[in-house]
Amino acid sequence: MRLLGVANSKLCFVLSLSLCASLLLLVGLQQWGPSDLQLSPPPGQPPQALGNASRHRGASKPGRLVSDPPSAAERERSRQRVAKPGKPLRTGVREKGLQGFGKEPAAADQLGAGSQELLWDAAPLHPSSNKHNMQLSDLFIAVKTTRKYHKARLDLLFQTWISLVQEQTFIFTDGEDKELREKAAILGVILKGDRMINTNCSAAHTRQALCCKMSVEYDKFIDSKKKWFCHVDDDNYVNIRSLLYLLSAYSHTQDVYIGRPSLDHPVEAAERVKSDGSTSVKFWFATGGAGFCISRGLALKMSPWASFGNFISTAEKIRLPDDCTIGYIIEGLLEVKMIHSDLFHSHLENLQQIPPPIIPRQVTLSYGSSEIKRNVLRVQGPFSLAEDPSRFKSIHCLLYHDAWCPAKDRH
Ligand code: UDP
Ligand code: MN
Repeated sequence: MRLLGVANSKLCFVLSLSLCASLLLLVGLQQWGPSDLQLSPPPGQPPQALGNASRHRGASKPGRLVSDPPSAAERERSRQRVAKPGKPLRTGVREKGLQGFGKEPAAADQLGAGSQELLWDAAPLHPSSNKHNMQLSDLFIAVKTTRKYHKARLDLLFQTWISLVQEQTFIFTDGEDKELREKAAILGVILKGDRMINTNCSAAHTRQALCCKMSVEYDKFIDSKKKWFCHVDDDNYVNIRSLLYLLSAYSHTQDVYIGRPSLDHPVEAAERVKSDGSTSVKFWFATGGAGFCISRGLALKMSPWASFGNFISTAEKIRLPDDCTIGYIIEGLLEVKMIHSDLFHSHLENLQQIPPPIIPRQVTLSYGSSEIKRNVLRVQGPFSLAEDPSRFKSIHCLLYHDAWCPAKDRH
């Protein structure tokens, strides 16, 4: 009897243990349930293409998308690069060419399907990937343009990426255009929400005219109190999510100057600011045609050579174009190293060489004449080359599925 009693209590104990275990399992499943595991495939990607992307993602509640953060090691390396003077600094996974890109997970996997709503929800990034609490509202994006491109180039940008970041985008042009001013204003509020800046600079494509525009861009950025200054041309596509992910690795209080060098060697110029021109100075600069970004901390240090028209006189002294002058002030005068990034692209490079799977994770893209193959991105988007010679509409639809994008299954 006694034995039977002991056996009974043991059985009870085992049964209650397994009951507890099942309960725990049930609670666990509810917490980490299907909503977290179900990933909708990125536009143009079959579901199986998601592969191991799920491990990169955070919760995928409707309306929330979290990118995979750069690894802690990557971030640490970036920080060290900013801090350490010496060799040119680089981001990305390669030193030269595009070969290293293959090592990264497919871009579409990382960025995932999106829509305008998803982008906005994604803006406050996953806390672990956003150490510096970067927000969309921290960005100041300056678009350089000229009167003759208001329709020919800007319309496309308004239709695509600018539509997502109208509050952050400032158009710097050289001629009055009421229609553009209204279009660029935030929610139609022209005075308070003015986003078109008539620089009154000359419309010529001369060094002086371009430096004049850059000078106004700089002053407006300083006035704006925003944390990051990014300059682009009117033939650039800006991938806002990628830009945010990139910048969120740094603090705006650090000295950060990031972009793509247009040359494979530093520029050498006669030093006419610190001395009489008898010595020379070597510095890297980020090509304006691919876009570049500068942290507020660094921009403030540039002030003696850049604010209130000083930028124009600095450029005049060294007789170099606007983007070179930026590099000169930062590397040559402030002795801060530029961070070389492969994520920025101008049409001066061979755009055909960017592997299609990684296009959606680039920070900027560009286009040139659609008749020259090397100027055209290899984007298998929903629009044909004739319908979308710049490929920007196709890229935009791959990233966000905006209202005007063709149905998902059309390729
Ligand atoms: N641009 C300008 N004034 C001009 C011609 C061009 O401000 O007279 C701007 C143009 O809007 C663009 C940038 O300068 O943002 C570069 O111009 P473009 O793409 O035509 O030339 P490239 O890329 O070949 O230098
Ligand atoms: Mn161009």
